[in-house]
Amino acid sequence: MTQEYFAEGTLIGVLTTEPLDRVLDYKAPAGGCKPGAFVQVPLGPRKVPGVVWGPGRGDWDASKLRTVRRVLDLPPMRRELRDFLERAGAYTLTPLPAMLRLATRAPGLRDLPSTRTIYRLGQGRGARMTDARRRVLAVLQEDGGPGLTLGEVSERAGVTPSVTRGLVASGAVEQVAAPCVAPYPPLDPDRPGKTLTAEQAQAAETLCRAVRDDGYGTTLLKGVTGAGKTEVYLEAIAACLRKGRQALVLLPEIALTAGFLNRVDQRFGAKPAEWHSGVTLPARHRCWRMVGQGQAQLVVGARSALFLPFRDLGLIVVDEEHDTSYKQEDGVLYHARDMAVLRASCNAAHVILASATPSLETWANVQAGKYARLDLTARFGGATLPQLRAIDMRQEDVPPNTWISPALEQAVRQRIGDGEQALLFLNRRGYAPVTLCRACGAQVSCHSCDARMVEHRLQRRLLCHQCGATRPVPVACPSCGAQGRMAAVGPGVERLAEEAARLFPTARQAVLSSDLFRSARALKAQIKAITDGDADLIIGTQLVAKGHNFPRLTLVGVIDADLGLQGADLRAAERSFQMMRQVSGRAGRGGRPGLALMQTFQPDHPVIRAILSGDEEGFWHAEATERRAAAMPPFGRMAGIIISAPGATAAFDLGTHLARTDGPLRRVGATVFGPAPAPVARIRGRHRVRLLVKAPRGAALQQAIAQWIGGVKLTSGLRLAVDIDPQSFY
Ligand code: ADP
Ligand code: ZN
Repeated sequence: MTQEYFAEGTLIGVLTTEPLDRVLDYKAPAGGCKPGAFVQVPLGPRKVPGVVWGPGRGDWDASKLRTVRRVLDLPPMRRELRDFLERAGAYTLTPLPAMLRLATRAPGLRDLPSTRTIYRLGQGRGARMTDARRRVLAVLQEDGGPGLTLGEVSERAGVTPSVTRGLVASGAVEQVAAPCVAPYPPLDPDRPGKTLTAEQAQAAETLCRAVRDDGYGTTLLKGVTGAGKTEVYLEAIAACLRKGRQALVLLPEIALTAGFLNRVDQRFGAKPAEWHSGVTLPARHRCWRMVGQGQAQLVVGARSALFLPFRDLGLIVVDEEHDTSYKQEDGVLYHARDMAVLRASCNAAHVILASATPSLETWANVQAGKYARLDLTARFGGATLPQLRAIDMRQEDVPPNTWISPALEQAVRQRIGDGEQALLFLNRRGYAPVTLCRACGAQVSCHSCDARMVEHRLQRRLLCHQCGATRPVPVACPSCGAQGRMAAVGPGVERLAEEAARLFPTARQAVLSSDLFRSARALKAQIKAITDGDADLIIGTQLVAKGHNFPRLTLVGVIDADLGLQGADLRAAERSFQMMRQVSGRAGRGGRPGLALMQTFQPDHPVIRAILSGDEEGFWHAEATERRAAAMPPFGRMAGIIISAPGATAAFDLGTHLARTDGPLRRVGATVFGPAPAPVARIRGRHRVRLLVKAPRGAALQQAIAQWIGGVKLTSGLRLAVDIDPQSFY
């Protein structure tokens, strides 16, 4: 039962961000407090901030019960947000304190002064002038804004604070109190938007109706790049703003925000609030406050914006909903798309998932009738899509230990010769070969997993990254029995780069693989260099599928289109399909049509055929059929357990212990595979071991896992992370 108010002395539960396993019992302070109030509580010798979570549990020694010290001057956390944190925490198996940390990132739980002193030009004249004083006046004149703080004036004018104070005394400068956090300029939804095409207008109208109706709902907005998805969802935002509710737009990359801010400015006459890691702390503080007061109508941001204290959130747009960066891969492991849907359901808000290449999860939710779907079929203004063609590797004469077929080589040579860019795509980092039969095309897979065996050169054995099974490299093909036709193919990008350098010695190469960049800035620089035409040949992993726009890119060669067909990475087929479509999105723009060539040993495979024919629905059906047959997500459930430790033995021992005590999992029909060394077996000096849990779709997986790992004591530097619905298996 929710209570509206806790009177002084009432037993209440307070959630802090301290890494404790529970909500703590306290007594309500003098004057009482509301549920959701931000408070300060004594904890041991310290004072820590927290949020009043509800009635106390009463299982704490009453004589030791302490009283909340004070209530902070912040609007209480709303019921919907508390619900969301609880449900998101339960879903991702994240302790509540860690969830609270996500929701209180910007200002921490401090109450900040509501006003600050700022300085601006005054009316007073006749102050004795010095160089320093003139500089101060010039700085204030230049500013043109509401005023500057003493620190800002000192810094910009290069003077000590006493100079400014002297000018205040003479009246030449005045000192005023200004609110710390100013509301954002209002957005006007009634400014005219672009004239929509009939198809766009219809989609916009459907979305506006959904937004006007209140209540939770999710719609997939599907359309090729340039179809006008953004124009359409801007109309839904307008409908939301007209109702006086707030909207949130999530973008997969900070780099995309600047362009979007300008489009909002054009449409609504002002820029929205921004929330991501590139925003300064004061600006984030302002955003957090104003969102809570309803004075930020629209927020554009990264996934963490889902945890802002919206006063009345009516719409969440997840743009490029299929993008892998929506999965948070460290700290709290959550998927922003799924959390957006959860948050919306807590807030009676609508969700728009926009994409040219939706995730299979979303597609399946549409098929199941859980999400609505709108299609934009035409590109605005019209443009041709590139050709897609297969290179049948059974017909190609490819020397051993090389992976670029003569046909692909020739195409690359031609494009480079014409001053265009070519991209060789291989979804494998580093050096990770695959073993297959040249006679029949079959690949060697693990007996107990839906996984390809990976050759490890040092051990000269095949290893399953899912379950750890190993066996010698076979001499005869396990499939067709042909002798001596087994070959290691499917190199990592680094190995591919070696080959390309031999074939195209004069081409300027750029290798794009996430493990090759130390920083985001280094990666950005490389991407910019490619965009500017400083490379002829790009060799990359899925990093290049990120929707970067390389205007001179006209040829894409997929080195191993079969890579996705057997599920070493569950989503590899989906990803290559998405990649092909995205390449299509950018290649049709220049004068010369784009071409995508896919090297395959199985040109008749249904997935390959669907990709070639551009038959998207056919592809989704084929992919869904395969996953359903294997009971893989979204038709079955998965969770990854990642154990790490300074030493490999400790991590393995815990993994083995868990694998042996899998009773709670078996009771819900789940199976555990592993322990196996993680594909990246050491990160930051820690050894990593993985277990994989598979369960039927309806299984109460989280509860079972909580019970399973609940008794584990993490000693000697051991860490254990649970990844519900893992997206990657690194
Ligand atoms: P998407 O989000 O699907 O990639 P956008 O909304 O960005 O597509 O549209 C692509 C380009 O076409 C943008 O520059 C956009 O302003 C323009 N555009 C789309 N629809 C219209 C329209 N109805 N009128 C004018 N310009 C449009
Ligand atoms: Zn296996």
